[in-house]
Amino acid sequence: MAHEDKQFSTKLIHFGGEIDKATGASSVPIYQASTFHHFDLDNPPAHDYSRSGNPTREALENYIALLEGGARGFAFASGMAAISTSFLLLSAGDHVIVTEDVYGGTYRLLTTVLNRLNIDSTFVDMTDFEQVKQALQPNTKAVFMETPSNPTLKITDIAEIASWAKEHGLLTMLDNTFMTPYHQRPIELGVDIVIHSATKFLGGHSDVLAGLVVTADEALGRRVKQLQNGLGTVLSAQESWLLMRGMKTLQVRMEGSEKSAAKLAAWLQDHPGVEKVYYPGLDDHPRREIHAKQSKGFGAVVSFDVGSGERARKLLGKVKLPIVAVSLGAVESILSYPAMMSHAAMPREVRLARGITDGLVRYSVGLEDVDDLIRDLAQALDI
Ligand SMILES: *Cc1c(COP(=O)(O)O)cnc(C)c1O
Repeated sequence: MAHEDKQFSTKLIHFGGEIDKATGASSVPIYQASTFHHFDLDNPPAHDYSRSGNPTREALENYIALLEGGARGFAFASGMAAISTSFLLLSAGDHVIVTEDVYGGTYRLLTTVLNRLNIDSTFVDMTDFEQVKQALQPNTKAVFMETPSNPTLKITDIAEIASWAKEHGLLTMLDNTFMTPYHQRPIELGVDIVIHSATKFLGGHSDVLAGLVVTADEALGRRVKQLQNGLGTVLSAQESWLLMRGMKTLQVRMEGSEKSAAKLAAWLQDHPGVEKVYYPGLDDHPRREIHAKQSKGFGAVVSFDVGSGERARKLLGKVKLPIVAVSLGAVESILSYPAMMSHAAMPREVRLARGITDGLVRYSVGLEDVDDLIRDLAQALDI
């Protein structure tokens, strides 16, 4: 069966590398080798050095390209390695427009590293198209999106921004970590480069750190390949295998977690101790209809405000089931406290202006029984 005829869940299992051509083995072999013998100097081997190409990593790279519907895929040592490598498509003197509530590590990269290389950035509220248009400068070369954003799950209209960017000859990049290709395939909406922290839902088990990039076309793929090889930001063979192992169950994990997230969000909305709930699946979530147009689902991350920092700290101390940690997208539920974890480095006024209050917590819903999760939250919210 051709890949085009397969449904997403079938592609997750039958992605082309599922049977080893040499032995029939039922999983991609781990080619734990840094270099490859030249049997014939005039006909060098397909892979000659693992930074430049490793068969295990290549299987993963083809796998993610297939899932995102792109031309080429690339695997990196972390989400940040994927993001920093992608930004180096830009040159000194270039300018990029970035969503203001971008992942903290991306913000840090732009404001403390890339700025020194004279790559300039403007942060805008991408829910307001006018702000994006006004940020355009003669040297603007790219737009970087993240939707839904973290932790307040703001929605950017991907197709609207991508088509505007195309008119102006700008490269578009999108961090698709929260939705994964199961729910949202930005290349189909006109985006040039899709990026993942595969550490989250794609890996899914809080046991591997990895990043992935998919380019819409071959020419851009060749440029990313040159950077990946030149910078050496590659993912190891072991980690590539472990990530593929996790990705095969992406759809069932997402379905299970999402169903529970919807129930948990509705329950939280009715709880007197909760002031505000952020979940794109809720009827009153701002720009819900735009999200529904560009994504197949609402994901498994629910943020909510318990009113004060004091109450948030008590809640974090009382929950028994979720691990209290940074990160998200795993089989176990993960409860994070942005004010003291992911957004601790942000000045308090900036943080508050972005809705990241002292009482805001973020719940990444795992695969536990949802009624157990709710019961646990009920006792923890009794404060
Ligand atoms: C975690 C995360 C990253 C960074 O990925 P690492 O694998 O931790 O380097 C980037 N973007 C988003 C949205 C993330 O959640």
